Amino acid sequence: MSNPNRPIELDIAIIGGGSAGMTLARKISTLKTAVFEPRLASERDCSWALWAQPQQLEELSPAIKGSWNKWRFIDQSGEVIHQSHQYRYASLSSSQYLQHCEASLSDSVHLVRKSIDRVESDCRGGGQLSAKGQTYCAKTIYDSRPPEMPDNCLRQHFFGWEIRTKEPISEADIATLMDFRVDQSRGLHFIYVLPFSDSHLLVESTMISTQLEDKDWYRNAISQWLDDQNIQVQSKLREEYGVIPMTAVPSQQDGVARIGAASGAVRLSSGYAFSSIQAQMATLSNSIAAGDRQVPRPFSRSLIFMDKVFNRVLKTEPRYGVGLFMAMGRTLKADAFVRFMLGHAGCIDWIQVIMAMPKWPFIKAALAEAFSHD
Ligand SMILES: Cc1cc2nc3c(=O)[nH]c(=O)nc-3n(C[C@H](O)[C@H](O)[C@H](O)COP(=O)(O)OP(=O)(O)OC[C@H]3O[C@@H](n4cnc5c(N)ncnc54)[C@H](O)[C@@H]3O)c2cc1C
Repeated sequence: MSNPNRPIELDIAIIGGGSAGMTLARKISTLKTAVFEPRLASERDCSWALWAQPQQLEELSPAIKGSWNKWRFIDQSGEVIHQSHQYRYASLSSSQYLQHCEASLSDSVHLVRKSIDRVESDCRGGGQLSAKGQTYCAKTIYDSRPPEMPDNCLRQHFFGWEIRTKEPISEADIATLMDFRVDQSRGLHFIYVLPFSDSHLLVESTMISTQLEDKDWYRNAISQWLDDQNIQVQSKLREEYGVIPMTAVPSQQDGVARIGAASGAVRLSSGYAFSSIQAQMATLSNSIAAGDRQVPRPFSRSLIFMDKVFNRVLKTEPRYGVGLFMAMGRTLKADAFVRFMLGHAGCIDWIQVIMAMPKWPFIKAALAEAFSHD
């Protein structure tokens, strides 16, 4: 039994056992580590999607619900289909991924089902934490608790249904990343569809805007889209709701190192974070093994700047939104598009994207961003 009056000594304390916390925890093999996470993985199930190559798909296979080498973008003027020979777009069950991580923790790593209620940094990367009256003293603290975000920031917000359909759907081998043939009056809006089989789909209504909508608004949008496609629902298996801030994480001056979304690992222009968190945690765990505990930056400054410019255009001139995403889909071939989404685009990929964008809104946004103090 632990004695609340005596601190428990740790090499590493990880606050939050989500994507970043558990990915890091399972890579630590010998250091005395605790991951503090109050919620069970099954209480947090949602779809985490990414583009992956065969080796990564193999590693993630215990949690993969579906994967596609074709994906598409649709607007009123038609559709663009990408087909890749290198990458697949894969959807994971977050709860199965987290349970898989839990099952592979080494003996020196403990999952503590408690919420951390106080953190005091010692300014050397470590400090004291307390949870339910028990104090812990750690040489290094990594904090993945979601940061507070301002209300009026640009956000990707979505609501989805996992459904079984009465009849098989056509083209179940294509993931629909963005179908813009929906109400655009309240902000950039699209339907996202992952067909796990020809009668088992995840259908989400996704908005990119500053204002969250009432849940019935997204439900109506999904129902309308299903009607338009003549898809009848046999049963609803699950609902999913999420809000992902598309704004830079406020910097924290408390001396505690952040990991995952809290460290800025969400790609600002897309809301994707799974791949960047995997990369950040792989680099960090290698550094820890080599004696360096500093958290690597998830993205370069130049990529963050470009994404901020893109988001500034979306926020200030939302009427361009559909055209921007469709132009990106039309301009880039499948593999270049994936490199772009993963933050690995080369010069040619960037030139192609810049050439496809309307110039004046981006010049204005780039100047405003360069002189902003955010
Ligand atoms: C519904 C949803 C769907 C998403 N889908 C995708 C996707 O398809 N692809 C993609 O790339 N990205 C996706 N994202 C974005 C991103 O990948 C996730 O947000 C990811 O979970 C971020 O990982 P993280 O570890 O930084 O934070 P989290 O996974 O949120 O982990 C933080 C953890 O901290 C815990 N915590 C909070 N307070 C305390 C406390 N006081 N003490 C201890 N623990 C605490 C929380 O319970 C949580 O488990 C999605 C996000 C959401 C919300």
